[in-house]
Amino acid sequence: MTSETSVIAKTEWDVVIVGAGPAGGMAAFEAARRGASVLLVDKAHFPRYKVCGCCLNLRVLDALESAGLGGMLEANGAVPLDGFRLAAGGRHVDLILPGGAALSRRRLDRALVESAVEQGAVFIPKCRAVLGPTCGTTRTVTLRIGETAITVMAKVVVAADGLTQSSSKGEFSASVRVSRRSHIGAGAVLSGCAEAFRPGTIYMANGREGYVGLVRIEGGMVNVAAALNPEGTSQARSLATVAARIVDEAGFSCAEDLSGAAWTGTPPLTRSASRLSADRLLFVGDASGYVEPFTGEGMAWALSAGRAAGRLASESLETFDASTEETWQTQHGSLVGGRQRLCRFVTMGLRYPALVKAGVRALTIAPQLATPFIKRLNRTEATGATVES
Ligand SMILES: Cc1cc2nc3c(=O)[nH]c(=O)nc-3n(C[C@H](O)[C@H](O)[C@H](O)COP(=O)(O)OP(=O)(O)OC[C@H]3O[C@@H](n4cnc5c(N)ncnc54)[C@H](O)[C@@H]3O)c2cc1C
Repeated sequence: MTSETSVIAKTEWDVVIVGAGPAGGMAAFEAARRGASVLLVDKAHFPRYKVCGCCLNLRVLDALESAGLGGMLEANGAVPLDGFRLAAGGRHVDLILPGGAALSRRRLDRALVESAVEQGAVFIPKCRAVLGPTCGTTRTVTLRIGETAITVMAKVVVAADGLTQSSSKGEFSASVRVSRRSHIGAGAVLSGCAEAFRPGTIYMANGREGYVGLVRIEGGMVNVAAALNPEGTSQARSLATVAARIVDEAGFSCAEDLSGAAWTGTPPLTRSASRLSADRLLFVGDASGYVEPFTGEGMAWALSAGRAAGRLASESLETFDASTEETWQTQHGSLVGGRQRLCRFVTMGLRYPALVKAGVRALTIAPQLATPFIKRLNRTEATGATVES
């Protein structure tokens, strides 16, 4: 029986998970591993491109390792990371990273989905979900697969549908606050300028109009991801033009390749959600709020909260009530809340180009000033300790 026919035949699930990014993939893996019947759906054809810097910090590596998925990165050709080049105002500084890896989202997200399927989850790509109301002890979800629409029921739904929370069709939008000063995201993959970038180093160019990160991923390609001031992009009418200007000013030699690449943009990035759950529903990953990509933490937040959501969903199938929602609020706050506050604080400083330039100048003299910050970003959850290289 194919996945598609099995979903049509089976309309009652323990857990339905909307969105197969890191949050949804990990939630599906964990809930299925705990014995729940799990349906994971994604509106995209898989594997799919996703705008992302593709840099996995030590917390991501730890989250995969502790879920028993540690071998996934090497098996998929991830490039180990050990350096970070920060450039602004024509200067740059090279900092040492304690570890990490770069892997395309096509490979990472596909590998997570495969692991969930190995645990018994059913995965349906090209399937758009719309959340429906609760009905007794279940929540309904309408799935659109091509021309076919079916309504399934789940004891718990995990909404891991990214920044836009598209599956709830605005029902919870009142609880989401999008920052007026938010950058938008943009990304592309380059195949022509790999030799300009050493494998293992993240290159980060900062300018008045935002910042652009470049890193070598598997297969010798360069992944580029940017957070850009939306005003700049509307004036220039092109994500590529603005990103090329930022890397050019920073002294990275790939401006032409950026201009020629196929870019994808995102909605405004910085948003917070005051509501992380509803009856028989948990929000997780970017759908529960996001800050900015500068500190490279979004996937660590998504994976750790995704695993916790998978666990909570599978434990509350028969008992989901207001106290489950309170538990989720608390767990989410302790896994993600404090780290997002730190990220918010750092990225506020990036709005002041003179401050960034002064920071890079100070780090060229005393690079060790960055060490406590880098250690903090890479501090793992299980031990509370930093993993040293
Ligand atoms: C420019 C940029 C650079 C970044 N760089 C990094 C980095 O280097 N390191 C890092 O850790 N993080 C980075 N991030 C953050 C990271 O990409 C996100 O935090 C992460 O992808 C969140 O995962 P998620 O699973 O919550 O959502 P997503 O990865 O966005 O996945 C959501 C999924 O839901 C699906 N979906 C949406 N609506 C529906 C629907 N109605 N029905 C079915 N499916 C649906 C989508 O197709 C998608 O596959 C970056 C982000 C940006 C914008």
